[in-house]
Amino acid sequence: MNRSCPNKLCAFPFLTIRDGTFRRGDDSKIIQRFRCKTCGKRFSHATFSEWYRQKKRRVNLPLLRFLASGMSQRRSAILLKVHRRTVERKFPLLAQKSRRLNQKYVEKFRGRIFNMQLDDLITKENSKLKPLSVSIAVDEDRRLILGAEVSRIPAFGHLSRLAVKKYGYRDDEHFLGLTRLFQRITPLVSSEVLIKSDEHQRYPGFISAYLPRAKHLQFKSERGCIAGQGELKKVHFDPLFIVNHTCAMLRANINRLIRKTWCTTKDPRRLKDHLDIFICYYNQELLRKSLTPL
Ligand SMILES: [Zn+2]
Repeated sequence: MNRSCPNKLCAFPFLTIRDGTFRRGDDSKIIQRFRCKTCGKRFSHATFSEWYRQKKRRVNLPLLRFLASGMSQRRSAILLKVHRRTVERKFPLLAQKSRRLNQKYVEKFRGRIFNMQLDDLITKENSKLKPLSVSIAVDEDRRLILGAEVSRIPAFGHLSRLAVKKYGYRDDEHFLGLTRLFQRITPLVSSEVLIKSDEHQRYPGFISAYLPRAKHLQFKSERGCIAGQGELKKVHFDPLFIVNHTCAMLRANINRLIRKTWCTTKDPRRLKDHLDIFICYYNQELLRKSLTPL
């Protein structure tokens, strides 16, 4: 545990001594206090904690599990007996922690990922006129989610004209999203990785730029088996089953991605946070306990 003085102007921050303890009201833990012998600054083990000055630490872990299990932010707040704004404030912090844990966990498989599947999942920001694209990469052998990036895209199909009329021109950030995704996964996967994807026109360019030695297979996308469940396909054998099933898991377990739900994304950054919370829970809890089918 870090015991050096937190005072940035301290001349010699390593000379510290124990200085009593206190019982933290929030979780009834005994916390050790310290005093700096150089500048007299007093601090404790809690000073360096990532949950420093939080008043509802007990809620953090159950909240992470609720958010990764298809529950809305408001319902989690009711069940945990905290204010909805507490959940709102904890959300980005939990996401930050999940990102860090996830990076550390996926790092263990660096260079040992030989099969990967890529796909994009479409969702929306408030309205169908403002769609979002989630680019995800999945390890085919272990089913790990290697990365997920959110990007704004303009409305397509019969909605595109109405969207421009109502909300104005919307930038296509999909290229940036894929750039972020490839920057993340390139160091992780083997340089001779086999990549499977649908016939999205942007993938080949990215693969040849970031993973020039990789082999890329593209498959025609098939029809969904049940109306409203576009991810699981009707065909007998789906070569992209792993990534499609992972997308279906995202839709089922992240409340705001469920089709026809009251919950919606209002800020794409929060969707990214929510995805990171789910990925952390999925990679490290669900897959380890093999609770997922397969
Ligand atoms: Zn000091």
